[in-house]
Amino acid sequence: MAELRFKALEKLFDRKPFVAIAPGTKVSDYYGELVFTDEKMKKFLSKEAYKHIKECIGNGTRVDLKIADQIAAGMKAWALEHDCTHYTHWFQPLTEATAEKHDTFMEITPSGTAFETFGGGNLAQQEPDASSFPSGGIRATFEARGYTAWDPSSPAFIVNKTLCIPTIFISYTGEALDYKMPLLKALHAVDKAAIDVINSYFDKDAKKVQANLGWEQEYFLVDEALYNARPDLMLCDRTLMGHASPRNQQLEDHYFASIPERVACFMKHIEYESHLLGIPLRTRHNEVAPNQFECAPMFEECNLACDHNLMLMDLMKRVARQHNFRVILHEKPFKGINGSGKHNNWSLCTDNGINCYAPGKTSRENLLFLTFVVNTLVALKDNQDFLRASILTVNNEHRLGANEAPPSIISAFLGSEVTAMLDEIESKVSGKVMSAKVKSELKLNIGKIPQVLLDNTDRNRTSPFAFTGNRFEFRAVGSSANSAAAMIALNSIVANQLIIFKKEVDELIKKGNKKDEAILIVLRKLITYAKPIIFNGNGYSDEWVKEAAKRGLTNVKSTPEALKAFLYPSTIKLLEGIKVLSKRELESRYEIKNEMYVKKLQIEARVLGDLAINHIIPTAIKYQAILINNVTGLKEILGSEYEKVAADEIKIIKEIAAHTAAIRSKVAKFRAIRGKANEIEEVDKKALEYTKNVKPYLDDIRTHIDELEIIVDDELWPLPKYRELLFNR
Ligand code: ADP
Ligand code: MG
Repeated sequence: MAELRFKALEKLFDRKPFVAIAPGTKVSDYYGELVFTDEKMKKFLSKEAYKHIKECIGNGTRVDLKIADQIAAGMKAWALEHDCTHYTHWFQPLTEATAEKHDTFMEITPSGTAFETFGGGNLAQQEPDASSFPSGGIRATFEARGYTAWDPSSPAFIVNKTLCIPTIFISYTGEALDYKMPLLKALHAVDKAAIDVINSYFDKDAKKVQANLGWEQEYFLVDEALYNARPDLMLCDRTLMGHASPRNQQLEDHYFASIPERVACFMKHIEYESHLLGIPLRTRHNEVAPNQFECAPMFEECNLACDHNLMLMDLMKRVARQHNFRVILHEKPFKGINGSGKHNNWSLCTDNGINCYAPGKTSRENLLFLTFVVNTLVALKDNQDFLRASILTVNNEHRLGANEAPPSIISAFLGSEVTAMLDEIESKVSGKVMSAKVKSELKLNIGKIPQVLLDNTDRNRTSPFAFTGNRFEFRAVGSSANSAAAMIALNSIVANQLIIFKKEVDELIKKGNKKDEAILIVLRKLITYAKPIIFNGNGYSDEWVKEAAKRGLTNVKSTPEALKAFLYPSTIKLLEGIKVLSKRELESRYEIKNEMYVKKLQIEARVLGDLAINHIIPTAIKYQAILINNVTGLKEILGSEYEKVAADEIKIIKEIAAHTAAIRSKVAKFRAIRGKANEIEEVDKKALEYTKNVKPYLDDIRTHIDELEIIVDDELWPLPKYRELLFNR
């Protein structure tokens, strides 16, 4: 068995960097070549069709079916130029991966001649036989149809000579079965709510507010040969066992260090492919943990950014293979070292260039800035549980609350300057009117907020939601997650809060307050209310856990507990109110997420059981037999003296026996306890049982295996060790 491990290690000695050929000399020569960009629309569409689709994208309206025919013909012509043979509706079911079902452009005439065709109907809607995707009870088996419908706001692209059309995925009854549809609705809601506030109080010319997202994607790379010798990595995307490497990240020498050559080749290759697909990757670097890396694009419109992130994750997996790497997107593939996140940098910007989260030059601009910051804090405080529920998964559980990642308490870092400004407003504004003196003083000071905030460059890495000078960075999102889940929640809760804010301010204005005065009076109230969510200190500390509890902030570590927030009456009211998700859709998401939780733990449990019984115990026994043989030999030669000489060996023989016995009995108990849990019908109750009584066995059994790993002869150990997985590249 250990043969596989050593063969894998041998393969590593011969690895050479694979240098991919750049698609052109300059990025500008090939950027977006595989995307049906605006430029290509102009080239391949009639003036009428081009004008129509631009209007539809701008207003979020439906594309006329007749014109869809023309657009489809244009897309087909472009796709054929790139040798495409197939097209697919590309969608985002609730499995956290993307889905596609390819259809050919080919059609055959009755006389047997083939020709290529692609009509508006094919473009606009499809009915994939997608009955196996999770629906959380929305699709009864008798009505298993799911439809995909074209999202013209995200451009079509080409992968593997297949024209990919971004689509939403809905049930026969029109309910969302995916992330994209509610995301589009949330983006629409936040646009409407924000533009209302901006037009009424700050700027009459702005027409649209766009949510922007810049994600930072962390990942691990593991050599393919080693990966193939680790069934746990292959089946669970994480290691279920493995003793800590004597050296891991304690020297802090990996972060931002020079990029290993094979990895650099991989990164460049990813960039070529990404740039062809119009994914604006810009940054690449080593992360904190050994063999952990990060890449980030320039921020984009949120829906497009989410699509691009999913495309990149897929691309990474495919390209990695060409470099004999496997890319690991799991939030915590290795115990004891950093896990991976996906920081979601988020802001709201108007079409005329106002970033609502950037301090400006005048008190007017800064009042807008403070309005958006404060309302975001209130939204966060009121919906901390819902926000957590949208990002917590069985994978992310390992990361949040562990000591390198934000805790499972939702709080916001603001930095000293913005915090001081909020304090000042809180202390100076009181009652229902403001004196002229206070007004002018505040106006002056609000105007003085520096445009570049000092402590936001040295961001607080321990905060799950950090203000970083011109945006918020939601850092609790998991590396393998679809960013859309977090973005649905964030944009929705902010939209809702802006609507509430606008009502309150309008009421004061009606009562006779001046506009700015009314805004400040409401802001003051909201600042006092939202204060408990602001935390500028160390989010990893134990004191914060205690302090947060005192402030009444929630701290939920288990996914099934956290998911309950999907069904809070307040959550349902909020999301129905802004028409993002209905009660039924929330219930279905709740069910699907609980189901996913149970299934993933089930798989991990089975893999661990198999490895423990069929790989680890036989190995331990082999080594034990060698020791027994040795002790027996010593006895033969030394007679009664052997006991003293072989004392250590005898101790180890007993230790091995104790560990293997413990593993056997615990694996048996583990199986029995799962059996019992599986009898529970309601999936949420089952998930709670898994979290409470099933999950702890994974760590418990692992402890024995990891102990055996440092006892047993290295020559016999079957699984690549942490030091091999993490230091070979
Ligand atoms: P880091 O946070 O590691 O310093 P960067 O400063 O490069 O990284 O930014 C991380 C991400 O934040 C990038 O995708 C960047 O485009 C994005 N970003 C920058 N400004 C904004 C903004 N106003 N809104 C949304 N995302 C932004
Ligand atoms: Mg960042």
